[in-house]
Amino acid sequence: MQNPVYSTVIPVYNSTRTLGELVSRLDQVFTEIGAAHEVVFVDDGSPNPETWPILKALAEEHEHVHATRLMRNFGKAGAVLCGLRQAKGEWVITIDDDLQHAPEDIPILLEKKSHDVVIGAFASRKKHSVFQRVTSRIKSYVDTRVLGVPPGVRMSPFKLFHARVVQHMIAVDTTRPFIPALMLQSTQDIVQVEITHHPRLYGRSAFGLRRRIRQFSNLIFGNASLVLRFLAVLGVTISCLSLLYGGWLVLSYFWKEQTVAGWTSLMVVTLTLGGLIMFSLGVIGEYLIRIIERVENRAAYLEREKLR
Ligand code: UDP
Ligand code: MG
Repeated sequence: MQNPVYSTVIPVYNSTRTLGELVSRLDQVFTEIGAAHEVVFVDDGSPNPETWPILKALAEEHEHVHATRLMRNFGKAGAVLCGLRQAKGEWVITIDDDLQHAPEDIPILLEKKSHDVVIGAFASRKKHSVFQRVTSRIKSYVDTRVLGVPPGVRMSPFKLFHARVVQHMIAVDTTRPFIPALMLQSTQDIVQVEITHHPRLYGRSAFGLRRRIRQFSNLIFGNASLVLRFLAVLGVTISCLSLLYGGWLVLSYFWKEQTVAGWTSLMVVTLTLGGLIMFSLGVIGEYLIRIIERVENRAAYLEREKLR
C-alpha cells in the first residue's frame, strides 16, 4: 500500500453502528480528493462487547483501516494520543466516532491546510441549557486565558493537524494527556472554519458531568503554576486585609473601653481562613497525585491488541 497522505484518527467508545458507515464515507471523501488515506481506530476499552469485533472485522477487510484496542478505558485523550502516535499521513484529522462531525466536511478543513492546525467548529449553538451555556462561557474564557487559544477560535474535537505538529505533540511524555494543551505547546498557527453540527444518530453521549469535570480539572491542574499563583495572590490579599484589621483593633483597644465585642468578626476571620487552608490543601493534594503518577511512570494508555 502506498503511504497515506491523510490519516483519520478516531477514538471509539461503545459505538457499533456508525463505524462501518464512517469508513465508507471517509473512503468516498478521499476518493473524490484523489489522495491515499488511512483510518486509525482506537477502542478506548469499550465495555460494549460488540465494538471490538466490528473494528477487527473492518481492519481485516480493509488494508487502510487500523484498529487498536486499549487495555481499559483511559479517557478520550489517551485514545487520541494512541492514534496520533500511529498516524503516518502528512496531515492528520481527528474526528469523533458518532458521526456528529460529517466526514464530508473534511474538504472544508483542507482548504486551510497551509496552517499548522485547522479546527472545525460548529456554527450554530442553539438548544443549549443555561448550565451548558455558563460552562461553555467559562471554558472559552479558560481556553483563551489559560491555554492561550488564539482569540475567536473555538475548540472542537474535529481538527486537522499538519504532521509537524503531531510529531511534537506525540513526543511529550505525559500520563494525563490533554490534546488542546499539547497542540498549543507546539504551535500558535491555528485557524478555524465553520461546520454544521449533526445530531447523534445512535446511542448517547459518553460525556456526563463527571467526565466533563475530570476534563476541566486536567486543564486547570495540568497547568502547574496556574492555581498556585492564584492562591499566592489570594493569600497576600487576605494577609494585607488582616494586617489592616489587626492595626485597627490595636488602636481601638487603646482608645475605647473594650467589652466582649468582636465575636462575629472573629468567627468570620476563622472560618474564612479555615476554608482557605482546606482549599489550599486540596490543591496541593491534586499536584501530589500528579507527581505520584509521574514517579510511578504511569502510561497515558496501554494497548491490549492491535490489528495492522
Ligand atoms: N470517547 C473515548 N473515551 C471515553 C469517552 C468518549 O474515546 O471514555 C470518545 C468517543 O468514542 C467519541 C468522542 O470521545 O469519539 C466523543 O464522545 P461523545 O460523543 O460520547 O461525547 P460528546 O459528543 O457528547 O462530547
Ligand atoms: Mg458526540
